[in-house]
Amino acid sequence: MEEKKMICIECPRGCELTVRTDGKSVDVSGNFCPRGKKYAQAEVVCPRRILTSTVRARYGMIPVRTDGEIKKSEIFRWMERIRAMRIDRDVKQGEVLLTDDDEGIRLIATASYRNEEGDNAAF
Ligand code: SF4
Repeated sequence: MEEKKMICIECPRGCELTVRTDGKSVDVSGNFCPRGKKYAQAEVVCPRRILTSTVRARYGMIPVRTDGEIKKSEIFRWMERIRAMRIDRDVKQGEVLLTDDDEGIRLIATASYRNEEGDNAAF
């Protein structure tokens, strides 16, 4: 039986969880509510995260994030695609810049961007 300690990040309370697993079942303790158990089980079986990053644009950088959690094992694949992007047009906040074919997760701009020289940072 393998034992791990982790902090639940589902709410600001930050419960310290103890997770025991034999590879088949996952036993969780230290959670104040059921969300902690669900979080710990997902962390052991298939951890997922919202990815935040920036995309290169002609006159600056555009902040972006995925609109859902992606598998942690997919983060490098996503980052490669994000690094390969270069935007050369105006972008509106919330606009979809990329869609993942496998899970339908989308990369969205979290700020608008004006494709002009000068004070053109994302706003
Ligand atoms: S177990 Fe529940 S109360 Fe504790 S941090 Fe997670 S969500 Fe919050």
